[in-house]
Amino acid sequence: MNRRSLPIPLPDPVRPGFPPELPPGREPPFSGRRSRIFEALGNGVLLVPSGPSLSRPGGTELPWRPDADLLWLTGWREPESLLLLRGFADEARTVLFVRERDPVREQWEGIRMGPDAAREWVGADEAWPISELAERLPALLRGADRIFHRFGIDAGVDHAVLRALEAARTSIRRTGRGPWGVVERGRLLDPVRVRKDAFEIALLREASHITARGLDEALASLRPGVGEWELEGTLLGSFRRQGAEGPSFPPIVAGGARACILHYRDNSAPLDAGSLVLLDCGAEYGGYAGDLTRTVPVSGRFDPLQRDLYSVVEGARRAAVAAVRPGATLEGVHDAAVRALVEGLRALGALRGKPSVLLRRGALQRWYPHRTSHWLGLDVHDPGDVVDPEGVPIPFEPGMVLTVEPGLYIPPDAEGAFARWAGTGIRIEDDVLVTPSGAEILAPGLPSDPDAIEERIGGR
Ligand code: CA
Repeated sequence: MNRRSLPIPLPDPVRPGFPPELPPGREPPFSGRRSRIFEALGNGVLLVPSGPSLSRPGGTELPWRPDADLLWLTGWREPESLLLLRGFADEARTVLFVRERDPVREQWEGIRMGPDAAREWVGADEAWPISELAERLPALLRGADRIFHRFGIDAGVDHAVLRALEAARTSIRRTGRGPWGVVERGRLLDPVRVRKDAFEIALLREASHITARGLDEALASLRPGVGEWELEGTLLGSFRRQGAEGPSFPPIVAGGARACILHYRDNSAPLDAGSLVLLDCGAEYGGYAGDLTRTVPVSGRFDPLQRDLYSVVEGARRAAVAAVRPGATLEGVHDAAVRALVEGLRALGALRGKPSVLLRRGALQRWYPHRTSHWLGLDVHDPGDVVDPEGVPIPFEPGMVLTVEPGLYIPPDAEGAFARWAGTGIRIEDDVLVTPSGAEILAPGLPSDPDAIEERIGGR
C-alpha cells in the first residue's frame, strides 16, 4: 500500500497514537519494551489481542480503547488487532494482525492503516489481515514451549490456543516440540509494567497535572446551589481543553451524604451550602491515567466539625505519603493511613481505647472500608501484584506509581460519637511516584491543607 494514495494522512509513525510530543532526541519506547519482554519470554510466545468493542443495549458503541498491554508494547490503537511475540522463532518474531483497508467502512468509521503500513508503523516483522488469524495462528504458535495468553477476552483466539495445544499433544512425541501449556500473560508483563519508564512517568505527571487543573477549574465554579453535573461538565471540558483524550474514568461529584457512596456516579443533585462536596476524577493523557480526589466545603468555609474530621483524613494522607519510599509496601502505606485515622479519631473522642487494640479489632472498617492505594498507569487500576507467590509484600522500587487515598465515610444514620458527622464523606487522593530517595506527589500544586483549600475557594 502506497501511503501517499490514502485520502487522509496517516498518523506520524514517530509519535504513534500519542498526542504529546516526544522530548527531543527521544525514540518511541515500544521496541525497547518489546526487547525486554523477549528476554523474559524465552522460548515462549505472547499473544495480545486489542480487546473487544462494547455496545450499549440498542447498539450504540461505547468509547473504546485498546488493551493496555497492547498499547504498552506497540502504541497501536486500532480495534480488531492482535500482536504476537514469538520468543522461540528465528524469523517473524514480531507478528501483527490488523484490519484490511476498506474504503466504504473507512468512510463511516475512520482510517484503517492496513497490514503493510501497520507493519512499518509498529516495526513488526510481519503483518497480516485479521481475517486470516484463525488460519495462520496454529502454525505461528507451533514450536513455542509455552503460550502466554489471557483467556476470556477473544473467543477466536482462545479457540486457536486450544487447537494449538491439542495439535501439540499428538505431535509432541514425534517432534519433541510444544507448546506444553498456557500461562496467564500478566505473569510475564505485570512485573515489568509495574515499574514505569521515563516516558511513562512524563505522561503520568502530565495526566495528573491536567487532572489537578481541572479540579482547580471546578473549584472556581463552586457555589451553593450549583449542580453536581455542572462541576462534572467543568472537569470533562477542562480535561479536553488541556489536550487529554478524556476522563480516565467517569468523574464522581458527590455532595453531602452522597459522598458516602464510594462509586457514586449519578452526579444529579444540587449542592447544599452547608455541605462538603467530594470530587474524584482523572484525565487520560497519552493513554495514561490521572486519579485525584479533593473534598471541599461548598460555601468555601469548613464548619468546625467538618474541619475536625477533614483534618484527620488530611493527617492520614500526609502519613501515608510519608510512608512511600523504596523498600516500603502497599500494605505499609495502608497501615500508616489507618494508624493516623485511628489516632485522629481518638484525639477527637470518637474512638476510645488503645490504638493497638482498636487496630486489631478493625474499629475503622465501618468508616473506612477501602484500601489506601492502587497502582496507577495506563489503567486507573494498573496491574501489578501486591504480594509475591509466597505471600510476601512486594517492596516499592523507584518508578512505581500509586495512589494514596485515605477517607472517612460517616453514613446519615451514624449514631453515638459519630452522629455529629452523620452524612459526611471525605476522601483526599494524590498520585505518588516512588523515587530513589522517597516519594514525589505528581501534582503538588493542588491544595489539600484545609486552610489552603479555604483560601483557594474563598479567595477568588
Ligand atoms: Ca480515585
